[in-house]
Amino acid sequence: MILPERTLLGPGPSNPYPEATAGLAAPLLGHLDPAFLQILSETCADLRTVFGTANIATLPLSGTGSAGMEASFVNFVGPGDVVVVAANGLFGERMIDVATRCGADVVPVRAPWGQPIDADAVAAAHPRPKLVAAVHAETSTGVRNDIAALVPAVRATSDALVLADCVTSLGGIAVDLDEWGVDIAYSGTQKCLGVAPGLAPFTASARALDRRIIKPQSWYLDIGMIGDYVTASGGGRTYHHTAPVAMIASLHAALRRILAEGLPSVHARHAAAGAALQDGLRKLGLELFAADGHRLPELTTVRVPDGVDSAVVRRELLERYGIEIGGGAGEFASSVWRIGIMGRNANLGAVTAVLGALREILGR
Ligand SMILES: *Cc1c(COP(=O)(O)O)cnc(C)c1O
Repeated sequence: MILPERTLLGPGPSNPYPEATAGLAAPLLGHLDPAFLQILSETCADLRTVFGTANIATLPLSGTGSAGMEASFVNFVGPGDVVVVAANGLFGERMIDVATRCGADVVPVRAPWGQPIDADAVAAAHPRPKLVAAVHAETSTGVRNDIAALVPAVRATSDALVLADCVTSLGGIAVDLDEWGVDIAYSGTQKCLGVAPGLAPFTASARALDRRIIKPQSWYLDIGMIGDYVTASGGGRTYHHTAPVAMIASLHAALRRILAEGLPSVHARHAAAGAALQDGLRKLGLELFAADGHRLPELTTVRVPDGVDSAVVRRELLERYGIEIGGGAGEFASSVWRIGIMGRNANLGAVTAVLGALREILGR
């Protein structure tokens, strides 16, 4: 079977950067080979740069973005700990589920899907939470939550740890964890970082590590044990699990490419492509879903016009044009489309292709 080539403009995965694909084909190294350990430590250093942090505990976890989410809760909260979760979409709801499974006493603070979270409401939800969590880029709705505003609001009332989901923001829009004061964050390789799914970049501050659970319920995602392998030097390294060496080589290559282009340029490229897409969709007479002023450039949500079958349009995009876009999430599954312009695809060529194909299919 000849595999079709697709332009992946859904909510993830996106088409990897060519450098990331080439990285997968590099000779396989052992996970304790000095040559690999150098790639690993350079990857951690580059992740610090893209996260905007000096945290020593910055590393790629094995698993997709959801592994980062799970690690961020299981290592820091246990039975009875109060966790405030801001939720205005599917991934905020998933955080509530994960924190609940850790036994936490979860206080959800919801905002309508399509609207941003209210930082003051989140900060006022509980006087002494152990942790406050929010999603930076809500991929289910295309909304950007203002993490820079959330942290001071939380700090004004408590010294809770602040956790940010940066799965769809990292490599697409600015993430400045240390400047914002975020303690714990995670991401995924398959969205704006432009790598295949399989790794979850993760970071935690010294303040967070001081409060971590020493023997978390998850053995695989125990960041204390993983840290003994990833960040220890020389003979201090101990085997925990076999690092996914090929995926780390691929992430390493993508990060080098992103930093060679320059983070400000990469962000500007996403901003320009996202603005062009949103402008073009409006010119087709379509209505954007996310609240004006809070829209992500890398993930656009647009309402399916009345009388149009969402699934039929998506199938035609895929079969006739080789373009994948996403349906909506939750109750908006068939009334919203999600178009991701991430990583390599953040360019006018991809934008023009999907706008042109939609125009033909919709007959506009
Ligand atoms: C995609 C995504 C996740 C989950 O990542 P997977 O790679 O699907 O496990 C978590 N949070 C957000 C905001 C996402 O977009």
